Amino acid sequence: MSNDVRAACVIGWPVKHSRSPLIHNYWIRLHGLAAEYRREEITPEAFPEFISNLAAHGYVGANITLPHKEAALKLSEPDDRALAVGAANTLWLDHGHLRSTNTDVEGFTANLDAAVPGWDAALEDAVVLGAGGSARAVVYGLIERGCERIHAVNRTPERAEALRARFGPSVQPAHWSALSHLLAHTGLLVNTTSLGMTGQPPLAIELSPLHEDALVADLVYAPLQTALLAAAHQRGLATADGLGMLLHQAVRGFQLWFGVRPEVTAELRALVEDDLGR
Ligand code: NDP
Repeated sequence: MSNDVRAACVIGWPVKHSRSPLIHNYWIRLHGLAAEYRREEITPEAFPEFISNLAAHGYVGANITLPHKEAALKLSEPDDRALAVGAANTLWLDHGHLRSTNTDVEGFTANLDAAVPGWDAALEDAVVLGAGGSARAVVYGLIERGCERIHAVNRTPERAEALRARFGPSVQPAHWSALSHLLAHTGLLVNTTSLGMTGQPPLAIELSPLHEDALVADLVYAPLQTALLAAAHQRGLATADGLGMLLHQAVRGFQLWFGVRPEVTAELRALVEDDLGR
């Protein structure tokens, strides 16, 4: 590798499943940059040394995936988003400082912006299914966009309560049994559980109470077209899928490392769709 080549990587354990190299190397080729994006399989024991010496390892920044996102937060200088979400997924070197953010927040909101421009203009109520790591990013994004009430529906009630403790009274924990009533009054339904994912139990909910203007988003992207999104299409509702979020969350890391703001194009989407299909 020549010294003129800027390099970033995705760090995980394991890391071979990550689609980030496909996404970033597409943009590198598209923009004709002298840059590389690689995979680094790093154990939890080796992780602190690796990111503390990122430049010495040849990198200007990195994406962080399981199981290192919480450790990355502690070992870097996080921005408000990473702190609020409690996890860092994007690192960059800034004049010797190792900074971090969480781009799932903007991945979620930018994907909705692309799918339904103006979706947040009059949004008062949203229903979020799940209360795990991705739910924290979604809730933070919804609060940033001015959503007044976020009904957090989760199998384990304590985790929905923890979302309220973290983000404040706009988060309202609710039980699955209240879902039908909540759906009748919401403009947005988001699935952040792993239900509906290949190999997981299905997400069995009845969408008929939703208003015809409601938007349905699913974070699950394997399969691409989840049963939830298929049911929403069948009802003629607007949707935003998990692959769109995955692509949009990659934009800012690329810009931070390589100085070019890339676009989520139909060609990139087709490339990743093809890879997911294999
Ligand atoms: P977590 O493990 O942090 O949370 C999982 C959530 O799913 C919890 O709320 C959990 O409920 C719920 N859940 C799991 N199994 C069941 C079940 N059988 N019945 C009811 N609820 C269940 O995962 P993440 O939040 O990190 O990820 C969730 C999904 O989002 C995954 O499919 C992941 O691939 C996807 N994702 C997609 C992204 C994208 O860019 N598109 C980004 C990040 C995640 P409980 O608290 O009760 O255990």
